[in-house]
Amino acid sequence: MRIIDMHCHMYSRTTDDYERMQLAGIEAVVEPAFWGGCDKTSADSHLDYFNHLTTFEPARAAKRNIKHYVVLGMNSKEAENLDISFEVIERMKPLLDRPNVIGIGEIGLNLNTENEIKVLRAQLELARQLNLLVIIHTPHVPKLEGVKIILRLVKELGLDPNLVDVDHNTEETIELTLKAGCWAGMTVYPTKLSPERAVDMIAKYGTERMLVNSSADWETSDPLSVCRTAQLMRSRGMPTADIQKIVWDNPRTFCGHSAKFDVR
Ligand SMILES: [Zn+2]
Repeated sequence: MRIIDMHCHMYSRTTDDYERMQLAGIEAVVEPAFWGGCDKTSADSHLDYFNHLTTFEPARAAKRNIKHYVVLGMNSKEAENLDISFEVIERMKPLLDRPNVIGIGEIGLNLNTENEIKVLRAQLELARQLNLLVIIHTPHVPKLEGVKIILRLVKELGLDPNLVDVDHNTEETIELTLKAGCWAGMTVYPTKLSPERAVDMIAKYGTERMLVNSSADWETSDPLSVCRTAQLMRSRGMPTADIQKIVWDNPRTFCGHSAKFDVR
């Protein structure tokens, strides 16, 4: 099975992980910029990180025959600092032209604060102006309220929902995301969803505009969780075409809205 992982923080994974991912059928990954475990003290630190994601990481992935794409953005967990956040947004603009950058992300909400909403709004406006893909992080708690705020902003700012992946959905939010016409990301990760819960949602809501990712990072997580989800779909007797749609066709369609995404 050919697989694309739509959300994977390879920055915090080893080269051995790339090796295992390649052996398991993962041919491409999308890496969103995120919170690295402690807050960065300047915009420079964010820019250095973006530079790493657009130079070192795609080269490391290519050695394992994995195509590496990124979405760059000011993450919500550090968005309380408006000075740094708006400087980062301004200074990341030239980097959006780099060859592996296909959009903006992961932007979104962490605690649904006013400042987070300001930083999210500015980046959604930028994505709309430049017609870029967006990957949106939804909060752990209160998730439903956060998703409502995000979907309201996406509509109010006039983004094309075909270019928007609202991520980390649960049973509580997935219907809202799908009804808004956005792509619905499900993250199979110990503190988010089990493969069982993700497959139950696929069984209930179908495969249209559904995406599965690992969000593997520096915490206990699994860069093969998309593969395990595909395996569970198979053992439940779901058609091969449905499995392929979830782990290959859908991410390819979504990412393919960027002309830079070259996975055939
Ligand atoms: Zn993430």
